[in-house]
Amino acid sequence: NIELPADLITATSRRQVPNACFSFVKPKKTAKPTMLHVSPEMLSALGLTTKDAESDAFLKVFTGNEVLPNTNPYAMCYGGHQFGNWAGQLGDGRAINLAEVEHKGKTWALQLKGAGETPYSRTADGLAVLRSSIREYLCSEAMYHLGVPTTRALSLALSGDQVLRDIMYNGNPDFEKGAIVCRVAPSFLRFGSYEIFAARKDMGTLRTLVDYTLKQHYPHLGEPSKDTYLQFFKEIGEKSLDMVMHWQRVGFVHGVMNTDNMSILGLTIDYGPYGWLEGYDHGWTPNTTDSGQKRYRYGTQPEVVLWNLFQLAKALYPLIEETEALELILKNFRDKLGKARLVMMKSKLGLVETDKKDAQLVDELETVLQRSETDMTLFFRNLGNFKKKEAADGVSVIADAFYSPREITGKLEDAWKDWFLKYRERLKKEIPNDDDRKIAMNTVNPKYVLRNYMAQLAIDAADKGDYSVIEELFILLKQPYEEQKDAEKWFAKRPEWARNKVGCSM
Ligand code: AMP
Ligand code: MG
Ligand code: MG
Repeated sequence: NIELPADLITATSRRQVPNACFSFVKPKKTAKPTMLHVSPEMLSALGLTTKDAESDAFLKVFTGNEVLPNTNPYAMCYGGHQFGNWAGQLGDGRAINLAEVEHKGKTWALQLKGAGETPYSRTADGLAVLRSSIREYLCSEAMYHLGVPTTRALSLALSGDQVLRDIMYNGNPDFEKGAIVCRVAPSFLRFGSYEIFAARKDMGTLRTLVDYTLKQHYPHLGEPSKDTYLQFFKEIGEKSLDMVMHWQRVGFVHGVMNTDNMSILGLTIDYGPYGWLEGYDHGWTPNTTDSGQKRYRYGTQPEVVLWNLFQLAKALYPLIEETEALELILKNFRDKLGKARLVMMKSKLGLVETDKKDAQLVDELETVLQRSETDMTLFFRNLGNFKKKEAADGVSVIADAFYSPREITGKLEDAWKDWFLKYRERLKKEIPNDDDRKIAMNTVNPKYVLRNYMAQLAIDAADKGDYSVIEELFILLKQPYEEQKDAEKWFAKRPEWARNKVGCSM
């Protein structure tokens, strides 16, 4: 709670904002706000009820049409490395922090995305469209239920305004429905929040922000000191590595892992052009603007986290001034990465014991998976049905996962048979029986994920005013590891019409 002078004028004019972590702004009033969906789980985490969510006040606050009493909404200043290059000041261009809520010992920051311009809007409008808002809303809650560290979403609303995006048909401007998501997290601070002050050589503000972060989010580390800062960096790294291993496990590809999209709490943040692996492919990215270099493809995500951590280390360096200690932490992360990935992949195969050929077994699987288009989710989920005493050919167990089954002949069929022979041999080392192994595998291999075409179906229906698919997918994705009798249609390969169709980020 910061006391503001009564005559304070909030200015949204786009500008460089030096020596400041944030700027006060007011959300924009909208033409005709309508609430489309509210997350019951997020409501209760905040100590609110579904009845609260039906109120007029809720609608007004979470579409930016009313500001809660005694609160001062603000947009944060941050910078970032975009696709490997320092981009200078970025900041919350279309996000406005409303307030913080304390409930059951947790503090949650509430943030509207798409509620109007801020000093950080640069050349854009501060708004969001319905399709990108549906994608953020559904995916962040789905990730939460998958057990992936993530920012959350409370609500999805239409603003009632038309938003212009630069998609032009016949040269005519194409207006889309404007929307606002309220997203929620303990903090929205990013690597770029610290980088900006280091880049500006503003050590005073850098220290103020780091000390604030320690006090609010890493209080167990104790009083600020060089050692505490080092420990702080180490914990951020550990959380970030944990997050990216979860992404690898469920087949999530973020798409824009710029340092301004890396949470200081290791949460998945900024659901833009993200996507889910369908065919298992280390080279796949959903980001069409990254199609050349494919910097942020599935297979490079862990490496990119390391690169981003290196940028954070450089930003924190002036407070630490111990090159060797920072380098050692980074080196340890690199060593850990390979080990963590092996443990994660083994868990997907139901392997707990250690065998010196485990890394090779995983490598060989990834090679053969990659050789023909094989659906990641179907493959790993169905692999749980493999029996130790099965005849050598396990291919039938996972046959549904191949996009072109006719290709699985000749050399490729031999490769699969060969792999299953080794897998079966390896399973002899495992103690659990087939049923118990399957139960364990089903806790790490989801049955339902938000395939790109599923989000698209929800968007297409919503465009026509039908919000039932949003609700259907929201309910489905609450229990991604459970068998859901009436939901078999969502446990299927991507339909052919949806090939190469990935939702857009804007
Ligand atoms: P992103 O690629 O989504 O991480 O965004 C990069 C930067 O652009 C951030 O500073 C965003 O706040 C800003 N930005 C993205 N979309 C808009 C928009 N429609 N209006 C204003 N700023 C935006
Ligand atoms: Mg962003
Ligand atoms: Mg974004």
